[in-house]
Amino acid sequence: MKRVGVLALQGDFAAHGAALERAAVEPVFVRDAEQLDGIDGLVIPGGESTTMLKLLRYDDLLDRLARFGREKPIFGTCAGAILLAREVTHPAQESLDLVDIGVERNAYGRQLDSRVAEIEPEPEFARRAGPGKMEAVFIRAPIIRRVGPNAKVLARYHGDPVLVEQGRHLVATFHPELTPDARVHALFLEKL
Ligand code: GLN
Repeated sequence: MKRVGVLALQGDFAAHGAALERAAVEPVFVRDAEQLDGIDGLVIPGGESTTMLKLLRYDDLLDRLARFGREKPIFGTCAGAILLAREVTHPAQESLDLVDIGVERNAYGRQLDSRVAEIEPEPEFARRAGPGKMEAVFIRAPIIRRVGPNAKVLARYHGDPVLVEQGRHLVATFHPELTPDARVHALFLEKL
């Protein structure tokens, strides 16, 4: 059986753990670099990417994660997507540079910073993960402003990409771990 880690330094790692359990996968809560050796894929949850970055710099975990991502799949949601992106703005910060996207943090502004919305999965998502609209929870979400030629948009909200895949990696600016719809996690688990 495949082993899936959830980075558990900060943020809503417990909700991702529960979402994996609903998909019949037992999560491994990753808090140090050694644990990366025992897993086949990793989820980086939502939270506060600046705080996560600070914690990752201890213990060389940031470099270890970048190395892990060169071989194995990572699924980043919200703050996790920010950490996986190539460029981060508003404000700029360091990242793992594993997915060729540019993200602007907290881009929906104060008034609209958190909401539940219906998003539009692309036909390719429907084909691979199942048809139908999707309810998405956004919490102080980034906007993906640039998508590189090797990255593929799988869902949009008001025209902006909100679910993007590049090879083995997947990023969502919303929180699929907070809704009962299991299709996004299922899509990730297929990459293992
Ligand atoms: N605003 C957070 C950040 O910039 C992300 C919010 C989230 O993960 N829900 O890191």
